[in-house]
Amino acid sequence: MTTTQRQKPVFRFAPSPNGPLHLGHALSAFLNQDMAAAMDGRLLLRIEDIDQTRCTPEFEAGIYADLEWLGIDWEKPVRRQSDHIAEYQTALHGLIERGLVYPSFLTRGEVKARVSASEAGGNPWPRDPDGSPHYPSDDRDRSEGDRRKMLESGLKHAWRLDMGRALQAADRVLSWSETGDGETGGIAADPSMWGDVVLSRSDAPSSYHLSVVIDDALQAVTHIVRGLDLFHATSVHRLLQVLLDLPQPLYHHHRLVTDAKKRKLSKSDGDTGLADLRGKGLSAADIRNLVGL
Ligand code: GLU
Repeated sequence: MTTTQRQKPVFRFAPSPNGPLHLGHALSAFLNQDMAAAMDGRLLLRIEDIDQTRCTPEFEAGIYADLEWLGIDWEKPVRRQSDHIAEYQTALHGLIERGLVYPSFLTRGEVKARVSASEAGGNPWPRDPDGSPHYPSDDRDRSEGDRRKMLESGLKHAWRLDMGRALQAADRVLSWSETGDGETGGIAADPSMWGDVVLSRSDAPSSYHLSVVIDDALQAVTHIVRGLDLFHATSVHRLLQVLLDLPQPLYHHHRLVTDAKKRKLSKSDGDTGLADLRGKGLSAADIRNLVGL
């Protein structure tokens, strides 16, 4: 890598191959490409496939085909997260050793029952920005001895960030610099609104939050351009960046493409799938128009 290359701004488009790309992805890819070009920057593509229960090679192949058709030009080789699980695990173990992450054993059903009982008793249960209930405190408060016994007995578990301890360990006011389509400027990060987030599950050994901050740092990404649906997740990312001593990128969360009923597009929404639109004879220029560029 030459010195000039090292100093260039680095952008990345980071889709998950768990369904066909739609118009929302096209907007994100175009914006990354346009902003990188305007700043003489580099554009990377990252395949975020840590959830192997949902990601498939066919969807990954679809991503390359759709992006090529759109005229997106990314650097090779592409980083595929499933090839780097050991790196995420190393970071996770470091956090476990520092006492910032604990094993959690409650099943989804048990959490649900806890939340319903509390709400039926008139006590609202805290929820994260996506509407999911915060994880109950049971496992966080367990003794080391109990934890060890439960782990040794082979009980299925996930690893969660102890939000209170993590905030204490970070020991600073967290914020990020935002230039997107929502609130801009210096944004105060509030990771506690997520509760004790999962960093690793038995069926997905690294979470989105953990792998995204590690990869953005490893790939020296300077500018993160992604949808406003991930605006609040940035609070967790800033906390993890501080805990793992990673650099702080700039953020640009762009507007979302919605359907006729103003709902966010989903991957199962056939009408707005890029491959379908291509099949109907639309061009990349048509897609630019459709997403309002
Ligand atoms: N992989 C995420 C998604 O497809 C995007 C992650 C990011 O841009 O930070 O929604």
